Amino acid sequence: MRKSGPQQGLQAQANSRLATGWSPSPTFGLFFGLRHLSAVRTRFRIRAASLDNRRARRSESQCQTGQMLENNERRLMTAAESIVRSLPDNDTHTVASAAMDTKGNVHTGVNVFHFTGGPCAELVAIAAAAQAIAGPLVAIVAVGDRDRGVLAPCGRCRQVLLDLHPDVAVILPLPDGELTAEHISDLLPRSYSAPEPAFGS
Ligand SMILES: [Zn+2]
Repeated sequence: MRKSGPQQGLQAQANSRLATGWSPSPTFGLFFGLRHLSAVRTRFRIRAASLDNRRARRSESQCQTGQMLENNERRLMTAAESIVRSLPDNDTHTVASAAMDTKGNVHTGVNVFHFTGGPCAELVAIAAAAQAIAGPLVAIVAVGDRDRGVLAPCGRCRQVLLDLHPDVAVILPLPDGELTAEHISDLLPRSYSAPEPAFGS
């Protein structure tokens, strides 16, 4: 089908002007500058609307997660505390983690401290959930031995949680000692987003 309309006309004009060495006039530049500005504004509005939708979905997710935590956070805390208290006194396994999936099942793990960089308890709990084909996790907590209580996740665990379980809520202590549940994306504002799932041995 033959194309018609102002765009084809402009393209034909541009081609002939290129052939004759024509240079854009100020009016021509202003016209296309305005067209470009309009396109940028449109893209900005689309991006802003997309951001609003994502915020709304996150808010809804946080609300659902918050309601779930009200009923289940003590269950997670109890599971992690029970495990960490059962550990013999040593410097290798010092933290326990418990994570909950969308069905309410709890998956647990302990850290493996080693100078080569052993996994944190949260990562082991994530692996346990994966082994159980648990699907997405909705909440996770880590508890330290020797009465250290709930521990905030390290940066590596935050990145892993964000990439693998982007809707998870993390139970962590506030500076005043109170506990809170924060959406993982709020713990890593302006975070790096892995383009592909990370594969490793
Ligand atoms: Zn960690």
